[in-house]
Amino acid sequence: MKDETSDIAFYDVVVVGGGPAGATAARTLAEAGHSVALIDRAGRIKPCGGAIPPRLVRDFDIAPDLLVARIASAQMVSPSDKRVPMPIDNGYVGMVDREHFDEWLRERAAAAGATRFTGRFQAIEREGERTLVRFQPSGTGEDGAAAPERLISTRLVVGADGARSAVGRQAIPGADKVPCVFAYHEIVRAKPASPEADYDPVRCDVYYQGRISPDFYGWVFPHGETASIGTGSAIKGYGLRPAVERLRETAGLADAETLRREGAPIPLKPLKRWDNGRDVILAGDAAGVVAPASGEGIYYAMVSAEMVADAAKAFLATGNVKALASARKAFMREHGRVFWILGIMQTFWYRSDKQRERFVSICRDKDVQRLTWESYMNKKLTRRDPAAHLRIFFKDLAHLFRLVSP
Ligand SMILES: Cc1cc2nc3c(=O)[nH]c(=O)nc-3n(C[C@H](O)[C@H](O)[C@H](O)COP(=O)(O)OP(=O)(O)OC[C@H]3O[C@@H](n4cnc5c(N)ncnc54)[C@H](O)[C@@H]3O)c2cc1C
Repeated sequence: MKDETSDIAFYDVVVVGGGPAGATAARTLAEAGHSVALIDRAGRIKPCGGAIPPRLVRDFDIAPDLLVARIASAQMVSPSDKRVPMPIDNGYVGMVDREHFDEWLRERAAAAGATRFTGRFQAIEREGERTLVRFQPSGTGEDGAAAPERLISTRLVVGADGARSAVGRQAIPGADKVPCVFAYHEIVRAKPASPEADYDPVRCDVYYQGRISPDFYGWVFPHGETASIGTGSAIKGYGLRPAVERLRETAGLADAETLRREGAPIPLKPLKRWDNGRDVILAGDAAGVVAPASGEGIYYAMVSAEMVADAAKAFLATGNVKALASARKAFMREHGRVFWILGIMQTFWYRSDKQRERFVSICRDKDVQRLTWESYMNKKLTRRDPAAHLRIFFKDLAHLFRLVSP
C-alpha cells in the first residue's frame, strides 16, 4: 500500500508493540478488513511470570500446547512462614513462556493479514493532515551500516509498547506519570536440590513477607522444565535481587541453573485518557491496565486491545475521533470495580507484616478460596452465591476490627 501523495507506505492503522495487547489489536483490526502494520522490537523476551486464567485461553482461542504447566493449587506464605494451601476446584492456572506465546500471537495477527515490521519505534510526526510513524528497522544493510529509518503513513497509531510507553509519552498527557511496581525475576531450571525442598511443579507459591517485598509479593511459578522466581516493589532502591536469592533458597532452587535474570516495571493504574482525540490510542500496559495487588496484566492487555480495536473500527468508519474514547469507557465499565477493590486490598493488606499475616490467615477460609479462584478464572465477580459474599464481608470486617487473631 502506498500513500497517494508520496511513496511512503500507508496503512489504516500502525500498531506499535507486538506483545499480547499489540498482537491482539493487530489481529482484530486485520480480521475486520483494515490494513495494519505491526511494528515490534527484535529479540526481546518480556520478563513475566506467565500465569494466565482459563478465561483467556477460552476467549482468545489459545493453542493448548502453549501451556507449559497447568497449576492445580496455590500456597500462600505468611510473614511467620505459615503456609496456607488454596486448591483450585474445577479449573487451573495456565503457565505460558512469553518467548513462544507472544510470537504465536504475532504470527496469528500476520495470518489474519497484518504486516509485520521488526524495528524500534522512534516518533510520531505530522505533515499537515498526515500522521507519520518513524521507526528504525532492525539489522544492517549489505554494507554493515544500520538500516535507514523508515516512515509509515497512517490514520491511527495504537500504542501497545508496554509500560512507560514511548508512544504514550509522546502523545498522551499524564502517560509519563503512571505509578509502577518494579518487578524482577529469575528463570531457573526447575530441579530442586533435594526431595524435601518446598517446591511443587503444579503449585504456585505466593510469599507475603516483608523480607521478600515490603509492599507487593514474591512468587515461585513452575513452568514445566523451568520456573519463574520473582518479586516486586514500588520502593526505589529495594534489593530485589537479594530477595529473590532468599526465595530460591526457600524453594530449594538456590543452586539451580539460572537461565535468565530480568526485570520490568508493572503499571498499577489505568491512565485517565487512552487517546489524544486525534490519531493515537493506547492499549495494555501502555494504558496502565494491570490489576493492582496481583500484577496480572496479560488478560487485561488482550481485553483492552479488543476494546481499542472496536473503538478504532468506529473511528475509521466514521472519522469521528470521539469514538476513540469509548475503549476506556468500555474497559472501566467491565473491570473498573475489580481494579478498585484490588487497589484497596493492596493498600490495606500489603502495608505491614502484621497485615500480611492477617491476609494470609483469611485465605484459609473456604468461601474466600472459592470466590478468589472463581473470580480469577472467569474474570467475573461471582454472583452465584450471595450468602458467601455476605459471610466474607462479615469475616473481613472481623479482621479489620481485630475481632479474630491471625
Ligand atoms: C516480572 C513480571 C512478572 C509478571 N507476571 C505476570 C503474570 O504472571 N501474569 C500476568 O497476567 N501478568 C504478569 N505480568 C504483567 C504482564 O507481563 C504485562 O501486563 C503484559 O505483558 C502487558 O502486555 P502488553 O502487550 O501491554 O505489553 P508488553 O508485553 O510489555 O509488550 C510490549 C511490546 O512492545 C515492544 N516495544 C516496546 N517498545 C518498543 C519500541 N520503541 N518499538 C517497537 N516495539 C516496542 C516490546 O518489545 C514488546 O513486545 C508480569 C510483569 C512483570 C514485569
